[in-house]
Amino acid sequence: VEGPSLLLAREQLQPFKGQQVLHVSGNTKIGKERLPDQVVKEIFNWGKHLVFQFPQFALKVHFLMFGTFEADVEGTTVTGDYKRAREPRLLLRFANGEIRMFSCSVKLIEDRNLKRSYDFSVDVLHRNWDPQKALKQLKANGDEEIADVLLDQDIFSGVGNIIKNEVLALAHVAPTVKVEDIPAKKQRELVALARSFSRQFYKWRKVFLLRKNLRIHRKHKCPNCGAKLLRAKTGKRQRWSYWCATCQAA
Ligand SMILES: [Zn+2]
Repeated sequence: VEGPSLLLAREQLQPFKGQQVLHVSGNTKIGKERLPDQVVKEIFNWGKHLVFQFPQFALKVHFLMFGTFEADVEGTTVTGDYKRAREPRLLLRFANGEIRMFSCSVKLIEDRNLKRSYDFSVDVLHRNWDPQKALKQLKANGDEEIADVLLDQDIFSGVGNIIKNEVLALAHVAPTVKVEDIPAKKQRELVALARSFSRQFYKWRKVFLLRKNLRIHRKHKCPNCGAKLLRAKTGKRQRWSYWCATCQAA
């Protein structure tokens, strides 16, 4: 799950705002017995975090590398494409539907307004996103590989591995290049693409056309020159990168 999917989730889950939790299950040990009877005040996301605010505390769900969720409202699935058979980490049932979350980290936080503690200027999909700040932080990590910095949630909150690979392909930059070796103009382009591609991702995801439109992530051939793509776990994060040795030579 990447930021755009969580932004979509925030929108899809709005029917649960104002609803009371009727039933909870799942294999999490966080003290979920506190949740029944609680009324959802607000649901929002920050990057890959999804937050349910209740009157006295908040439920923070962090979707890690393989986290997913699904939801039904009035008997109809609102999250669409995939169905999971395994036991959810956390299931919340309301009078009007159900949310199931998988492979995520779940926490209860004693805060009546958790939204205040988030910095939305680093969320690439938020209206308060600050590209100048991102550029400054990018430059401050000059000796890091660009793929590692793009995945840094304190700089590019919401950017996941798919967005990272596609953005680097669009900018013709190799994932293993150090930030300080990327020309200033190209650095600005990367920052701009982190947002514009995330927005595009969101639009495709909304109509279930994401996979069809990916150009490089998990592909075999370069969309530009047809050459066989390189595939390797790169950088200190060791996440899968896909790139073309010719078109992304920088
Ligand atoms: Zn190529």
